[in-house]
Formats: sequence, C-alpha cells, structure tokens
Amino acid sequence: MQKKDTKLKKEIKYDVAVVGGGPAGIMVAATAAELGAKVVLIEKNKQLGNKLLLTGKGRCNLTNAEFNLRELVKSYNNGEFLFHAFSVFGPKETIEFFEKLGVKTKIENGKRVFPASNDAEEVLEALNKFLVKNKVEVLFNCEVKDVVKKGNRIGKIILNTGEVTAKKYIFCSGGKSYSLTGSDGSGYKLVEKLGHTIINPKPALTPIKLKDNLKGGGIKNLQGINLENIRLSVFQNNKKQFSEPGEILFTHFGISGPAVLNISGKVGDLLELGEVKIIVDLFPELNQEEVSESFEEMLKKYPKKTSKNVLSEFLQERLAEFILGISGIDKDKTANNMSKIEKAMLVKILKNFELTPEAVLGFEGAMVTRGGVSLKEIDHKTMQSKIIDNLFFAGEIIDVDGRTGGFNLQSCWSTGYLAGKSVID
Ligand SMILES: Cc1cc2nc3c(=O)[nH]c(=O)nc-3n(C[C@H](O)[C@H](O)[C@H](O)COP(=O)(O)OP(=O)(O)OC[C@H]3O[C@@H](n4cnc5c(N)ncnc54)[C@H](O)[C@@H]3O)c2cc1C
Repeated sequence: MQKKDTKLKKEIKYDVAVVGGGPAGIMVAATAAELGAKVVLIEKNKQLGNKLLLTGKGRCNLTNAEFNLRELVKSYNNGEFLFHAFSVFGPKETIEFFEKLGVKTKIENGKRVFPASNDAEEVLEALNKFLVKNKVEVLFNCEVKDVVKKGNRIGKIILNTGEVTAKKYIFCSGGKSYSLTGSDGSGYKLVEKLGHTIINPKPALTPIKLKDNLKGGGIKNLQGINLENIRLSVFQNNKKQFSEPGEILFTHFGISGPAVLNISGKVGDLLELGEVKIIVDLFPELNQEEVSESFEEMLKKYPKKTSKNVLSEFLQERLAEFILGISGIDKDKTANNMSKIEKAMLVKILKNFELTPEAVLGFEGAMVTRGGVSLKEIDHKTMQSKIIDNLFFAGEIIDVDGRTGGFNLQSCWSTGYLAGKSVID
C-alpha cells in the first residue's frame, strides 16, 4: 500500500476518493487508478477486506460460473439492474481477473468458484497487491463521518482525522450485516444526507427462528440434523408463495443451511404481512403415491421391526422418532400392526413437514443486507448517482442482494469495475 499513516495532508487533492475498503471499494479504487486516476481509498479499520476474509467460511466463494447473464440475474433480488455491469465484467472476466493476479480457481458444485487454495487470505493478498501496483493511496483507521454538499456536488468529506477533497467520490461502505467487520450502515446515513433514498435495510441470507409449536417435542430435539435434497415451500394465507430446493440444517433455535438462507429475505418480507408456513418435502423427487409404495414395501419386508426402525430406513433416526411423535404413533409399534390411517399420516408428513417461522435472524447473523440505496437514483450503465453529479456507488450499499453461491461478491466485482471505469470516462 502507498501510505499507511492516518495523518492527512490537507492540500492533497484526489481525482477519486473511495469510501470503504471491502471487495467493491478495492475493485473500484484499483480500476480507476489503473486507468490513470489519482485515487485514495478510505477505510475505517486497520486493514482492508475484513468481511471478505469471512466469506465461504474462510474459503471465499468468489463468484459463480454462471456465464449465461440472463440466468445470472435471476439469482438476485433486483438482478436486472446488474445486467449491464455483468456484460462489462461478469463471472468469466472475474475468473480471468483473479487468475491474472495469480489466484488459481476451481469450480465446485452449484457452479461455485473458489480459490484452488481454499484460502480467502490469498484473495485478499492478491487484491492488496493490485492496489499497490496501481499506486492507490490507502488511509487506514479513517472513518468518513460527514459529507459536505456544494450545490449538486460533494464538496468534501470529513474524516475522524481530517478532510478529503476529490473530483469524484465513490461510496462502497457496504450494508449492515456482521457490523463488527466495519460495515455498520453508517454509509447509508451519509448518502441519505445527500438526498438519496435508502430502501429499508433488512437482514438477508440469514437463519430462521421457528415457533416451538411442533407436536413431536421441542425444536431442540432436531438440533444438528442436516437434510440434503429436500424442497422448501413457503405459504401465506394457504397460498403457495414460492419454493426452494436444497439443503437445510436444524439448529437450537430453528433452521439454517443454503436453502433456508436463500428464502430468508422473502420470508422476512412475508412475516411483516402475517403468519408464514414452511412446508418441507423430505422426498421431492417422489410423489405421495411413490413414497407410500416405498414405505409399504419396507413395512412388508420387515413386519416385526418397530415403526421407528422402519422409518429410520428412510430418515435419520432422530428425525424418524420426531416425526412419529408428531403423528402420535407409538414408536415401538411393529410394522405389521400399523393401521392404514397411521401409514397415510406418516407419508403425508414426509411430504409436508410443517414448520412455522417466528422471525428471521437479525443483522448479526445475516450474510447480506436486503435494501440500500434506491436503484431509481443510480444510472445502471455507470453506477453514477442521478442526484449528486460527482457521486458513484458500488457493492452491497445498493439495493441488490444475491443468493448464496458467490453471487454477492460477483455483484461487488462487477459494480466495482463498472464504477471504477465510469469515473474516468
Ligand atoms: C459470514 C459471511 C460469509 C459470506 N460469504 C460469501 C461468499 O462466500 N460469497 C459471496 O459472494 N458473498 C459472501 N458474503 C457476502 C459478501 O461478503 C458481501 O456481500 C461483500 O463483502 C460486500 O462487499 P462491499 O465491499 O460492498 O462491503 P463490505 O465488505 O462490507 O466492505 C465495506 C467496507 O467499508 C468500510 N466502511 C463502512 N463505513 C465506513 C465509513 N463511514 N468510513 C470508512 N470506511 C467505512 C467497512 O469497514 C468495510 O471494510 C458473505 C458475508 C458474510 C457476512
């Protein structure tokens, strides 16, 4: 990095000042500098990319190898807004970019792209080198506290350590989740002061707390059970809203896992309107009749086995016991003694295991923020503000959020590159 001390020389004027040194800010700063601008990157922490280091459980799922951009935008809330940014710098360019920086990549299931080293530190190191190569000046431990407007422009920004003046400013201060990493929503307030609308920030990609109303016993009895290849369907007022295939993990308070994280944003929205039901289909590839036939076969094969042991042929034992508890069937009843009604009831639960969400977890558990700077006030071709002439945005601060699978970082690389290029145009 060019400069690590936090004292500012008042007289320095920059072409571009970037607020926030996360993935988006780093991309913006180095891109603009590579194109010839004198750039300062302002970060309130003592190092860059705190959140980046947590990504992918420390492995950094840096993008998703979905190269069909029409498909790619479907993985986002407000994804259409990103189409132009993706067409300029999409997943293909991202992989090439990192390979060029020396980060070898690999593709895992779900098209998720990781560094071959499985190490987020390697990604951050490469980005730091990219900043140094392009002579970006980085100010650590410097928090932007205020912005001063001059007509339709930002005149200067006020830091805890002094002031910065630049021709153009790019806000990349992130969302509100995992605030200990630095992104605590303070950027929203500064941007709001400039006249921008902030769409109510809410936690997304977050676990869901369940009402403990299951007949089979407390939800704690399911803690630690992980189910793959299930389907979640979300209902409100008996009307199916949407469904999501994937994986679910029961925790001490409710549910988590990729499928749950992906539905959490929409479930949070629905909970504001009233009660929500989540129906888990434990065998989505089979219809009710097929499940019933398989179950019958097993009962016939093992007439003397207990209902619990037969059901455990299909499910983890603890879950089997729990489901028998919900249905009120004695777990020690032998297979040949189960009534038709009991069998039908079990099959129904296997296809429709009902859960009642109480709340989505708060920002402390959320991987991203839903909401942010209103897209109506940003030009999607340049990432420039439509309200303040010399202001641009990139990254999670804008009202776009993606599914799990590398989509959120991809949005940072794409909007970051586009904004970095546009400030120079
Ligand atoms: C646990 C976890 C795992 C994740 N895993 C993945 C994953 O594998 N793949 C994926 O695609 N996404 C993942 N994400 C999401 C991804 O990390 C974020 O979407 C991404 O980091 C957003 O980048 P950003 O640059 O917009 O903001 P941030 O990374 O939040 O960076 C913003 C920076 O701005 C600084 N800042 C804020 N306000 C100020 C201010 N006033 N003055 C100065 N500096 C300021 C902050 O300190 C921070 O460094 C994960 C998120 C979490 C929490």
